[in-house]
Amino acid sequence: MTPLKERVAVVTGGSRGIGRAIALELAKRGATVVVNYKGNAAAAEEVVQRIKGEGGEALAFQADVGDEDQATSLIKIATDTYGKIDILVNNAGTTRDNVIMMMKAEDFDSVVNTNLRSAWLCSKAAVRAMMRKRYGRIINITSVSGVVGQAGQTNYSASKAGLIGLTKSLAREVASRSITVNAVAPGFVLTDMTRDLPEDLTSKLNELIPLGRWGTPQDIAYTTAFLASDDAAYITGQVLVVDGGMAM
Ligand code: NAP
Repeated sequence: MTPLKERVAVVTGGSRGIGRAIALELAKRGATVVVNYKGNAAAAEEVVQRIKGEGGEALAFQADVGDEDQATSLIKIATDTYGKIDILVNNAGTTRDNVIMMMKAEDFDSVVNTNLRSAWLCSKAAVRAMMRKRYGRIINITSVSGVVGQAGQTNYSASKAGLIGLTKSLAREVASRSITVNAVAPGFVLTDMTRDLPEDLTSKLNELIPLGRWGTPQDIAYTTAFLASDDAAYITGQVLVVDGGMAM
């Protein structure tokens, strides 16, 4: 089944964790994938080789997507190499958790830059190309922390809530060109980002999840691939929460 055949996708932060699973799933469904990373070239190359090994097409591209020039270059590499961009997944993200009294302003700026400004910059560059083709899918990976808040994450939650506002506003702006913009809000997913949480907190969290387990990167990848497909053509401006029922 290759419902994304001939689609060109850019996945920011596609080298590890959730972004890696999304890149692999989009490729499995036939899309050509630009795998963006910030520092981990080996991990991004592993994703590319895996896609190519399964008969797909991909390239790795280093860019700090919080930087305007680098974000613009990322979208340009897709359009220069493959002629277009159909799917943009704004997944790159980071945390610098602390209570507000201990959090430095630079921890706020850095997280908002990586999680929110990056999505705005990449979307701005991609929309230009999508408008011309009158087709596009933008999927922003937000978080339940942006929906219900999370103590110790005023910076992260603000960035993720901002991403939801961005999703809804942009969805209204570009709908007339058949471009959809949606957000996926994962709950707790085991990746490098969450690996170091204290064990007592991890088991406490399990009790808060009605489905009784943490999410996997693949759970998020399936949802994202659906929103990237033609089956989701009539869905825009939505936040799909994928959290085992935690935030309902
Ligand atoms: P992760 O395992 O830490 O991976 C982060 C990815 O983002 C890596 O590929 C990293 O690239 C890339 N990245 C970070 N800063 C970047 C920048 N400035 N420019 C380009 N790429 C950058 O994180 P994850 O858990 O998969 O999280 C992915 C997304 O899901 C994030 O937006 C996160 O907020 C969101 N999310 C995660 C969870 C969770 O429980 N894990 C829950 C809700 C939402 P390098 O490999 O080069 O470092």
